[in-house]
Amino acid sequence: MMRPPAYTSLPERMYAAQRPSAVPAPRLIAYNQPLADALGLSLTLDEMAGNAIPDGAQPIAQAYAAHQFGQWNPMLGDGRAVLLGEAGGRDIVLKGAGRTPFSRQGDGRAALGPVLREYLVSEAMAALGIPTTRALAALETGAKVQREMPLPGAILVRVAASHIRIGTFQFFAAHRDTEALGALFEHACDLHYPGAQNPMDFLHGVMAAQADLVAAWMGVGFIHGVMNTDNMSVSGETIDFGPCAFMDGYNPGAVFSSIDTYGRYAYGNQPGIAHWNVAQLASCLMQLMPDPDAAKAQMQAAIDTFPALYEAAWLRVFGAKLGLKLTLETRPIAARLLDLMATDGADFTNTFANLPDARDQFLDREAFDAWQRDWLALGPDLGALKNPQVIPRNHRIESAIYDAMAGDFAPFHALLDAVTHPFDPNTEYARPPTEDERITRTYCG
Ligand code: AMP
Ligand code: MG
Ligand code: MG
Repeated sequence: MMRPPAYTSLPERMYAAQRPSAVPAPRLIAYNQPLADALGLSLTLDEMAGNAIPDGAQPIAQAYAAHQFGQWNPMLGDGRAVLLGEAGGRDIVLKGAGRTPFSRQGDGRAALGPVLREYLVSEAMAALGIPTTRALAALETGAKVQREMPLPGAILVRVAASHIRIGTFQFFAAHRDTEALGALFEHACDLHYPGAQNPMDFLHGVMAAQADLVAAWMGVGFIHGVMNTDNMSVSGETIDFGPCAFMDGYNPGAVFSSIDTYGRYAYGNQPGIAHWNVAQLASCLMQLMPDPDAAKAQMQAAIDTFPALYEAAWLRVFGAKLGLKLTLETRPIAARLLDLMATDGADFTNTFANLPDARDQFLDREAFDAWQRDWLALGPDLGALKNPQVIPRNHRIESAIYDAMAGDFAPFHALLDAVTHPFDPNTEYARPPTEDERITRTYCG
């Protein structure tokens, strides 16, 4: 039922065999039965807790490096995640499964709050139709983890197309290990870009996937929060839900992460950061090119196409939000609306969710009326508008976590149900936070 990770077909020095560490008293919080069925997988509680190894599994921890907030870190790797194996062609990982050779000072564990947050946000992303890792299960371990205070420990069972990050390429490129780098490249092509014949094709595939992904995030007001190169999957899935957030009122400078002091990963910076990240991948791929000097110019030219790829993706995403096929010529209709929203701090989700009646979202209603006349004059297909009604709002997530910490998981399940049906009208969960409820900071797990 489970197969060893395909990654174990790569040279042994590219990962470490690592069994999960046992936990005292696992208790299931949530189990994603439809996902388990789609994968043809069924795991016992002890297997998900790391207390037993599923048949066919071959647990490993993967090595990677990264630029973290622009700073080079040559040695990261799975410090608390263990890749058990594959089912249905997807990686099955236990996040919070104990220490590994890559744990550094960390305890290898995860706290309940971040596990619930990842479960909610990753499943919301999937329901929104945005490529993402998935949550198969969340469980409590029965052990405490020490953060600023002792917190209940938890494990997330994560499912992903792969766990090959830009940082995985960086790790082997930094070691000048071209054999490993080449094997990684072949493996990543087979998995995600089967048509790619060479590093240039692969780079182009990753760039297009990242451009689409970031445009999709922008379209739902999502701020990843930690777009370090280890948190960018070459598959184009959203990965690593740490201090991420969906914004309420529209603000292109929005930053929630408590550690993002300078706003490097602000909402409006995400496309530029994705561009910077794919440039790091390109510099790794150069080592696989026969003539490095010629490769440099070729790679640079390829990287320079990222802004145009992103722009095209953005026009598709925001065009769909407005019921239009946007072009560079009609782009200002979207830009003008966003400007009005920014000025008035209009709620991002609710403005688009009720676009023909969004007047009440604005302070300057005449300005909105004027915009709306111009929008309607472009002949939008009002029947085709498909904007989410419900996103996982920060105040709801925090409040569900607060209740769960006190032993009441009902609000978590109710919120999960709402955010996994994002296109259904839902007056309760569509409500933005009151001034008192507003969350301004999110934290890493
Ligand atoms: P992140 O910021 O989530 O991308 O994590 C950066 C690195 O820190 C990764 O290598 C993680 O595996 C590692 N890490 C995060 N939390 C822990 C922990 N509690 N124990 C060990 N390693 C951790
Ligand atoms: Mg990470
Ligand atoms: Mg993380």
